[in-house]
Amino acid sequence: MSTQPFTRAERIASVEVSEIVRIAEAARARRAAGEDVIGLSTGEPDFDTPEHIKAAAERAMRDNDTHYPPTAGTVEMKAAIARKFERENDLRFEPREIIVSTGAKQVLFNAFMATLNPGDEILVPTPFWTSYGDMIRITGARLVPLPCTQAQGFRLTPEALREAITPRTRWLLLNSPNNPSGAAYDADDYRALAAVLAEHPQVWVAADEIYEHLVYGDFTFTAFRAAVADSAPDVAARTLTVNGVSKAYAMTGWRLGYGAGDADLIAAMTAVQGQVTSGASTISQAAAVAALDGPQDTVRTFRESFRLRRDSIVAALNQCPGLDCPTPEGAFYVFPSCADLIGSRAPDGTVIDSDTAFCHYVLAAAGVAMVPGRPFGGPGHFRISYATAPDLLEDAGRRIAAACAELHR
Ligand code: PLP
Repeated sequence: MSTQPFTRAERIASVEVSEIVRIAEAARARRAAGEDVIGLSTGEPDFDTPEHIKAAAERAMRDNDTHYPPTAGTVEMKAAIARKFERENDLRFEPREIIVSTGAKQVLFNAFMATLNPGDEILVPTPFWTSYGDMIRITGARLVPLPCTQAQGFRLTPEALREAITPRTRWLLLNSPNNPSGAAYDADDYRALAAVLAEHPQVWVAADEIYEHLVYGDFTFTAFRAAVADSAPDVAARTLTVNGVSKAYAMTGWRLGYGAGDADLIAAMTAVQGQVTSGASTISQAAAVAALDGPQDTVRTFRESFRLRRDSIVAALNQCPGLDCPTPEGAFYVFPSCADLIGSRAPDGTVIDSDTAFCHYVLAAAGVAMVPGRPFGGPGHFRISYATAPDLLEDAGRRIAAACAELHR
């Protein structure tokens, strides 16, 4: 009998390799061919995990903390998370209101799998982290993008939110500081959005606050749930706060994130997680306890280092003919506009007809890998991750400027 060709399940038929992975692979291929390529496409800190965190993991292994964990997280990890929320965000949670997962990504995935039915709608301000779209697609629900322009600081307005809500809306997914724009909401922004949500009890809020510690200058981070606790307590009660150790503690490979919110929601998410991973790694949980409870000076060092890099890349990009780069409040990304260059021509005559064409041109002409804005729902822009060595970043700025100067009408 002949073998049938492989077919994917319908639920993942349209889930593609992300544009971020594709450009990273194109950059890797050029590097393998001997070209000098600067990668500014991947979203992870270039620092190593601090030593006291690694030491806690070693201790956990030696103490044989190597058995299956409770599905929703170890007692110690949940206690450390509750302390973190109280200390840093003025939020109080019981252990049954907390779930520990294999990355913030899995927290979100659990939440969507546990709550969304085909046809449900989830509102997501643009630009947004590309994974949201794929995760939501797998559930059969519909991501409804809410366009937020550079002119409005890439922030959702209460009016746009009000217009977008329908009886099928289940979630508003907020991400501040934002990947890819770096934009962040302050407490007043949040209260204005919550006033709209208060009229729509079917809409829950997922607040992805993974970049909480990476805010710069005089911007003060406020957790959504804390900001709206007094003005809209019902909205606070239906908020899932999502966070993790990946970005603040340079722990992307440990795969450890957490969520906190309504106990019934957390129970439903735990039911999903129980059939996917049985819980996050015990070793990573022990390490994350040390991260949250331990000294926070490395977080401050990382933050200051990112701020210097942000200022340097924003200045360099604003020197490039045709680019316009706002200064973001947080995260480690900038999301400049290349709209003025669309329609221009490269020296070989190729027309730069989109942000994707612009990124491919810069990779080929200047050896700098960046991600086009379209997959983030932000066409006419591109994303640079500045979590890279300052000298490489400076070199990249010079190369991008030279490539832009070569474009003509
Ligand atoms: N949320 C946002 C906005 C992100 O950018 C990322 C990673 O890039 C994540 C969540 C995932 O974090 P984790 O490593 O905890 O899964």
